Amino acid sequence: MVPRGSISGLLSSYDPKRLAVATVCSHTSLQIFDGARREGFRTIGICIGQPPRFYDAFPKAKPDMFFSVKSYKEIPARAAELASMNAVVVPHGSFVEYLGVAAFEGLRLPTFGNRRVLKWESDRDKQREWLVGAGLSMPEKIARPEDITKPVLVKFYGAKGGRGFFIAKNYEEFMEVNPTEKHTIQEYVIGTRYYMHFFYSPLVNRGYRLSRGSLELMSMDRRDEANIDEMYKLGAQERLKQFGILPTFVVTGNVPVVLRESLLPKAFWMGERTVERSFELFGGIIGPFSLECIVTDKLEFKVFEISARIVAGTNFFVRSSPYSDLREPEMSVGRRIAREMRLARRLKRLDAVLS
Ligand code: ATP
Repeated sequence: MVPRGSISGLLSSYDPKRLAVATVCSHTSLQIFDGARREGFRTIGICIGQPPRFYDAFPKAKPDMFFSVKSYKEIPARAAELASMNAVVVPHGSFVEYLGVAAFEGLRLPTFGNRRVLKWESDRDKQREWLVGAGLSMPEKIARPEDITKPVLVKFYGAKGGRGFFIAKNYEEFMEVNPTEKHTIQEYVIGTRYYMHFFYSPLVNRGYRLSRGSLELMSMDRRDEANIDEMYKLGAQERLKQFGILPTFVVTGNVPVVLRESLLPKAFWMGERTVERSFELFGGIIGPFSLECIVTDKLEFKVFEISARIVAGTNFFVRSSPYSDLREPEMSVGRRIAREMRLARRLKRLDAVLS
């Protein structure tokens, strides 16, 4: 982990008036660049080789300049070049995945958010400790395959977008796969999925206030997942298994959703508890995070995962969502991040949102 002092030192060499938002050209980069531009920041798109052509199709989201690398692993070695351009990194899921957690933690560039969250987020057991400790309900964890008495989902470690996961309804089905990779066995929760996008600001003291700072609900999505979402069209899963067609959970896109309004207080409570617990565990989450939940027919929430940064499900809401619109129109999560940086700069508290 890069020492906090060294990032503060680096920041003091920056010209605050010329901060540039830098991110990898993937995942949520369109809204990050569009949002940064609308808040008055210069933008740098980090790409592999030639600048990706698709930005020409989206001129409002095209970065002011591209910073080309041979591979993502080269970014840490070229951090000083980015620092000389006053670059502040806005991380997203692909950025952290391509670079690797350790390299991201050690990156010598100011990054939006608290890097200490990574240790808690990248390990499923740590996530459970955090969320259950916060009072949230999670799908039951099954310690040993022999204990499987109901349908389970077998998950592997690291954000893989559901790749390789499998469902087992009993011990025999688990043993048909018998994975050797590090995995966790989780109760398969039956209900409907809501991926809730929150933003925690340590700087804003109005709205839905917490013990310090405030919490905003930005939007919600549900993922399109191939092939489980559509495989019913070919017939029942059991029958398809005979032909070697198994359910997979590979994310292919996102659709917007809203939650039944009477569930909103519970949603806020969950977001609030998550943030409050994070203060105790690692000094606090900062900025965007997502609670990925299943709501059962008893209207209970089961959180199966937390993502501690901007998530791809927010891409739908590049202008606004039915929630963010009730606070301020035209506010995407990408723009909200840039707004927080702008506010921090004005208050001379960049240290409070960058690490
Ligand atoms: P990412 O890190 O990209 O969010 P991941 O690889 O960590 O993905 P999860 O988000 O944990 O995977 O799960 C992938 C999908 O599996 C979910 O989107 C959801 O559809 C389904 N899922 C996860 N946990 C459960 C559960 N306990 N019961 C039923 N379905 C689940």
